Amino acid sequence: MKIDRIQTFHVRHQLEEPFAYSQLTVRSRNALLIEITLDDGSSGWGECYGPSELYQAAVRHYYGPLLLGTNPLETDQHWHHMWQQTLDFARRGIMMGAISGLDMALWDLKGQVLGRPASELMGGRRLEQIPCYATGMYFQDRPEPELIDSLVEEAAHYLEQGFAGVKVKIGKNPTFDIALVTRVREAFPEALLLSDANHAYDLPEAERVGRVLQELNYGWFEEPLSPEHPHLYRQLQEKLSLPLATGECEQTRWGFQSLLQAGGVQIAQPDLAYCGGLSEGLKIRTLASSLGINVIPHVWGTMVNMASAVHFQSSGYGEPGRAEAQLPLLECDRSPNALRDALFQTPIEIHNGFAAVPSSPGLGVVVDRQALESYCVSHDDSSGW
Ligand code: MG
Repeated sequence: MKIDRIQTFHVRHQLEEPFAYSQLTVRSRNALLIEITLDDGSSGWGECYGPSELYQAAVRHYYGPLLLGTNPLETDQHWHHMWQQTLDFARRGIMMGAISGLDMALWDLKGQVLGRPASELMGGRRLEQIPCYATGMYFQDRPEPELIDSLVEEAAHYLEQGFAGVKVKIGKNPTFDIALVTRVREAFPEALLLSDANHAYDLPEAERVGRVLQELNYGWFEEPLSPEHPHLYRQLQEKLSLPLATGECEQTRWGFQSLLQAGGVQIAQPDLAYCGGLSEGLKIRTLASSLGINVIPHVWGTMVNMASAVHFQSSGYGEPGRAEAQLPLLECDRSPNALRDALFQTPIEIHNGFAAVPSSPGLGVVVDRQALESYCVSHDDSSGW
């Protein structure tokens, strides 16, 4: 049993209506999918979060050739080999994102070879379904009062669908943000509301907005500050009792160690398609656990990354744990994305706000080959390397 072929597919969905968050406007959805095929014909899928063109080059020129001809089951050994071979220039960033996608595909394959779902291989299926919170409520180019009305309507739509909570995007400007979070809370007095600034504020702004969120009983304040300043999270946390969440821009056990040991973060949010893959995600979970911190992965992109997060959350555990423990949450991105909604023959099923944990081998999502062809803008195949 050997790895025989590696293919990468840059898929793109051009949006009819762009949407924005605090940092930029999204005009198209892109992902790099990786398919690793064994000599018996079975294959596994992985995904990289970020610039697909660069990931495609990193897989072709650096990491793919290291895996060809090897045993797919040796996930930790492969991870370490890829990391060690490029350590001098690739400790973080795009290269680590490429390792993440390959590692994810190896976990999918491992499940298929062993005939077990990935969650079982990650330590056990504690849950058969995971409650989701909806991510959406992005900004659109319209007058602010009108935008607030439409965002309140959007939140109502998610709550009616049974989602356990709704994440409100903030970070446009503090005055707008405070008006928005207040209106949403007034409209849904009992709902679980979360907020995400995508690192838009300096410390005084974060404190000002955070006090309002705290008063309005929001569940967490995500990325209030730049990921470059873990010490500011600590300073903010000392001023607020509201949990702070962050980590989607962070990678590896070493990156999370620095971030979490700084002391200001209550919820760690690694993206499994970027942080180093499932192998590294499990290490980050252990590290977080050692500091009494819970992990709720950042999820964006296609069903491959979502399936990884579903299995990860199914096999997780809560800190500190109790008989009537709160269930772990899953981030469920609802913003327009055909790469999530139209690319899979077998997707992750979401009903009444719960994501079903696949019981089929591996990650349990099946790519629709025809759809893949139609969304693919660049394909690379190791047979041509
Ligand atoms: Mg976020």
